[in-house]
Amino acid sequence: MRADVVVVGGGPVGLLVAAELAGFGVRTVVFEAEPAVSDRPRATTVHARAVQCLVRRGRLPWLAPLHQKWGREVTRSFRFAGISGLTISAPGTEPEPLLKCPQRDLEREFEAQALAAGARILRGYRVEKLRMEADGVQVTARARDAREDVACTASYVVGADGARGVVRELAGIGSATWPATVSSMMGLVALPDRDRLGPGWHRTPRGWIVATPVSGEDVSLRTLNPDPANARTARASAPTPEELRREVAWIAGHEVALRRPRWLSRFDDFARLARGYRRGRVLLVGDAAHIHFPIGGQGLSTGLLDAIDLSWKLAFTIRGSAAADLLDSYDAERRPAALRVIGNTRGQLLLMRPDPDLAPVRGMLAERLAAEQFSARLGAAISAQDTVVPARTAHPSPWEGRFLPNRRLETRRGPIDVISLLRPGRPLLVLSGPGADAYRRQAAPWARLLRVVHAAALDPLPEALLLRPDGYIGWAAGGSALADALTAYFGPPVGAEASSKTRAPRSADRSTEASTEEIATLGSTCRSSVTTRGIRSA
Ligand SMILES: Cc1cc2nc3c(=O)[nH]c(=O)nc-3n(C[C@H](O)[C@H](O)[C@H](O)COP(=O)(O)OP(=O)(O)OC[C@H]3O[C@@H](n4cnc5c(N)ncnc54)[C@H](O)[C@@H]3O)c2cc1C
Repeated sequence: MRADVVVVGGGPVGLLVAAELAGFGVRTVVFEAEPAVSDRPRATTVHARAVQCLVRRGRLPWLAPLHQKWGREVTRSFRFAGISGLTISAPGTEPEPLLKCPQRDLEREFEAQALAAGARILRGYRVEKLRMEADGVQVTARARDAREDVACTASYVVGADGARGVVRELAGIGSATWPATVSSMMGLVALPDRDRLGPGWHRTPRGWIVATPVSGEDVSLRTLNPDPANARTARASAPTPEELRREVAWIAGHEVALRRPRWLSRFDDFARLARGYRRGRVLLVGDAAHIHFPIGGQGLSTGLLDAIDLSWKLAFTIRGSAAADLLDSYDAERRPAALRVIGNTRGQLLLMRPDPDLAPVRGMLAERLAAEQFSARLGAAISAQDTVVPARTAHPSPWEGRFLPNRRLETRRGPIDVISLLRPGRPLLVLSGPGADAYRRQAAPWARLLRVVHAAALDPLPEALLLRPDGYIGWAAGGSALADALTAYFGPPVGAEASSKTRAPRSADRSTEASTEEIATLGSTCRSSVTTRGIRSA
């Protein structure tokens, strides 16, 4: 077999990479060890910035009509280190800041999207070998029944094989690690006596129990045992219902009847960050690149953001429409993000220790969380909405690298918003004012790649903006020249002969691709303001 990209691992992150790449017209093969998506409960939360990027890429179609409600900022409450009061907000022009969705449903959705876009998904194949060749990587996978090996040579390999995957080591990518200090158990149970353990977060002198009603009588139980002696000791053995009962009784300080325990698992706070997300033709995403304790529901969101960031850069690179170092910007943008998440999960666990000496610190934090600005800033960090990607031009405008919240543009065909304009996956050049023609001329050598939109006024934004397919501002008027930014992203201008080789990546949404230009006759009806959290619509 030959492919442009082999994705190793068909968890949520690998399947999203496959859906994205195939949507861009990249020949993609996925090897997944398991025969089907598992019903095992794992992540349930997707945070705001991941949701915002996913809707821009058309990956959450059921949310599409909702972001057009143009309401006021939506705020949801969350916890930090088990302390309530954290607020996570999103502009009213965006979807809800917290998407509650079982991980398995997302996996099924991304798998269906990947297949519909033409990706080949080989389930029941475990990758065992990588061989680097002059112009690609040969990947060898063994079938579940061990009767056959399959080999596929690809230009690039994406390791999306999770915490226990093999790609990182086979590619010789080292990692920084942080040892485990706490242990946790998780399971679905029925609690016949809710007076003994009600729903919610329970802190005791011995640890934490979180009981979250799921559906019917089912309750998801998670324990946190801060005794470092327990961390990592029992990992080799599968947890038993009796062990979960004992752990819950010990932390609660009394017996709690647990009925129908199932999907038991254990985990700890061992953390790891790959020392590089790229080695030659091998790239890492999701849990294969970073793991940490699942407090604050950030693991899945971080991985999904990796997938979105990597996929368009890889697609443009494969199709010859990217600057030589664009793919390296994936590591530069995403590895620091994972390091921050590892830091905040370790910090939260420290604060969750039952040590009475920590009570004043927890008290102070609870007070601070009650203050709107502090809570909002922390919420922006947990939801990754404070992310600013590094500028790629020498003299960036202050807008470069920030995320542009959704806003409405009136066009001759009626209103259209930024989310809809980005869906085909083309970089978007938004022009307004008398200088528009000059910017168009500068962008002419890259015209085949871009979608150009004219708007009457972008106030208070600059008169011209280049948006990346993920919604971040790649360039804005007021700094380096537009041509410098286009060169930094998509390579130097090409002559007529060379430009015929520069193909625009195939759109995931071909219905809007035909129209590469929309004329906005009115300015946006949403005013924007610069705040501590970046640019927000008001
Ligand atoms: C108990 C638990 C609770 C969690 N709760 C949350 C939460 O509430 N919120 C949150 O955001 N995150 C949570 N997480 C983390 C979240 O589930 C992960 O971050 C997410 O699954 C990462 O997705 P992934 O695709 O990178 O890796 P995975 O989901 O691990 O997928 C990797 C895939 O690769 C396959 N694979 C592995 N090796 C090979 C191989 N050699 N060949 C072929 N295929 C291979 C595996 O079968 C698997 O399907 C939780 C994790 C656990 C364990």
